[in-house]
Amino acid sequence: MATTWERLEPRLREMQDLIAAISLMSWDQAVMMPPGGAASRARAGATLEAMLHERVTDPALGELLDELANDGDLSLDQKASVRILKRDYDKATKVPEELVRAIAEAQGASYQAWTEARPANDFSILQPHLETIIDLKREQADAIGWEGERYDALLDEFEPEMTATDVVSLFDELRSGLAPIIDKVLGAAGNPPEWLFATYETDKQLDVCKWLVKQLDFEMQEGRVDLSPHPFTMTVGAGDVRQTTRTEADALLSSIYAAIHETGHALYEQGIPKELLDWPVGRAPSLGMHESQSRMWENQVGRGADYTAFLLPHLKEKWPEELGMLTPEEFHRGVNHPRRTLIRVTADELTYNLHVAMRFELELALFRDDLSVGDLPGAWDEASEKTIGVKSDTVADGVLQDMHWSMGALGYFPTYSLGTVYAAAFYDKAMEELGDQSENFRRGDTSALLGWLRKNIHQEAYRYPAKELAERVIGGPLSAQPLLDYLRSKYSALYDVTI
Ligand code: ZN
Repeated sequence: MATTWERLEPRLREMQDLIAAISLMSWDQAVMMPPGGAASRARAGATLEAMLHERVTDPALGELLDELANDGDLSLDQKASVRILKRDYDKATKVPEELVRAIAEAQGASYQAWTEARPANDFSILQPHLETIIDLKREQADAIGWEGERYDALLDEFEPEMTATDVVSLFDELRSGLAPIIDKVLGAAGNPPEWLFATYETDKQLDVCKWLVKQLDFEMQEGRVDLSPHPFTMTVGAGDVRQTTRTEADALLSSIYAAIHETGHALYEQGIPKELLDWPVGRAPSLGMHESQSRMWENQVGRGADYTAFLLPHLKEKWPEELGMLTPEEFHRGVNHPRRTLIRVTADELTYNLHVAMRFELELALFRDDLSVGDLPGAWDEASEKTIGVKSDTVADGVLQDMHWSMGALGYFPTYSLGTVYAAAFYDKAMEELGDQSENFRRGDTSALLGWLRKNIHQEAYRYPAKELAERVIGGPLSAQPLLDYLRSKYSALYDVTI
């Protein structure tokens, strides 16, 4: 007779296959699909999502999971899979179906309104939709349930087991630590160098990106690199990890660093053991954990003195006119040039977390009923001036700049900063165990670091929640101090200031 686990397995495979089909359709939509296909694709996607939802909420699945919860013969990975699937099952069954449908419809309408509101520079186009989204998300949070505060239920979707209180204290630590560094460094940094704004052919940029992802040991037999306006990484199935990058003639660095960033995500996906991919344990434990990988490759490695010294000669070969005269030191400084800017996605490493902090604080105020959607644009401008030190003249570059809220992604922003905090702590630990990697990085050899990440993070998949995995890797509680120490030492050397 089949064991309970053996009765669960075909269900797991079927759910995974539906996820693979949904993923492939959304990759295709972002990369290949002609605009005319939008409506038929939306219907096909909704059908598959409904099939998946039916399977995830099947009472027979609930019964199997209850039986397995007390099964002493399961392996560590099977136990973790049962725990993770039980969480998904509980969440999915607690939210009434009408609410799931209402949220999906509201998100579609609201995202559409955002695509009109931003070019029109008119918040009132989005406002009623955003009000609906926030109301529905409140209902959803209450249906799922929460202990500390409502925002915890939202955050839990992206960063399981992390709470608003955890995030508030991390941002307090970050804000007070960053302020003196930013003041000193921005005073010393001056104007950005002109080569940053030169024109760089986009076809050559794509060549560089493709060369670079291979340098970083992305396995091309089991992956692809394509173009899309918003770079992303997605696993379609075992042996099929797809990443995208973007190219813009006047933004060489944004293309290169998007490629390194996405390669960080893609290496993580390729590092999750293939034999776990059909099981719920075969994925990253949180978005913040995923972001720790992309940020580490992008910042600690890619924007470091050694790796930039490796990159520069290759870029000079492509653009001798524009870059031929640069020294490695000048290139390194240019790559890290800090500024107070309005836009989060192009912000430098130093000011980036301030952009995230203000978004988190505004979200929290919305869900604590301390702020109304109507007052959001004013609150945004005030926060921007206070936190970053600049204020936009337009709502397009202010409260409307990100699509997240319009898509119902509330509780998502903190994962970006959690990623940078995890990344700095992991990198310290890796260097402590591996020894100095300068020589290797200068030759473009990052394999020792990748091996360390594979062993300590990628291969662990979702055996532990992110917070626990982080503590296991670091050997203590998570703190923003390693990130602050790293920024202090990097920028004091770059601009010869004492911080
Ligand atoms: Zn990312």
